[in-house]
Amino acid sequence: MKCEDICRLISEYLDDGLDLELRGIMREHINLCERCSALLKTMKETISFTRRMSETEKVPDAVINRVYCEIHIRYERRIKSETFAPPEASKYNKKKEKRR
Ligand SMILES: [Zn+2]
Repeated sequence: MKCEDICRLISEYLDDGLDLELRGIMREHINLCERCSALLKTMKETISFTRRMSETEKVPDAVINRVYCEIHIRYERRIKSETFAPPEASKYNKKKEKRR
């Protein structure tokens, strides 16, 4: 299992929405992976924080999950790009332009 898989499944993991085998695999990875354990901790904090704060304006877990996945995956890519390839700055700028 990769960090990206953890990202994708982490909100279900927190909601007890996964079967025991998968949870076990995830827990194993999270225990060994510093970044994923940090991610899990941040997710937990963010979810409890937004649940407390957003009684009128609900933020779905999936949205929070997506945001953290993006951060996590980008962080990972940046590490890789530092050693293998130039940063993806031009790609990012193109995306930004498209949205407008
Ligand atoms: Zn990981």
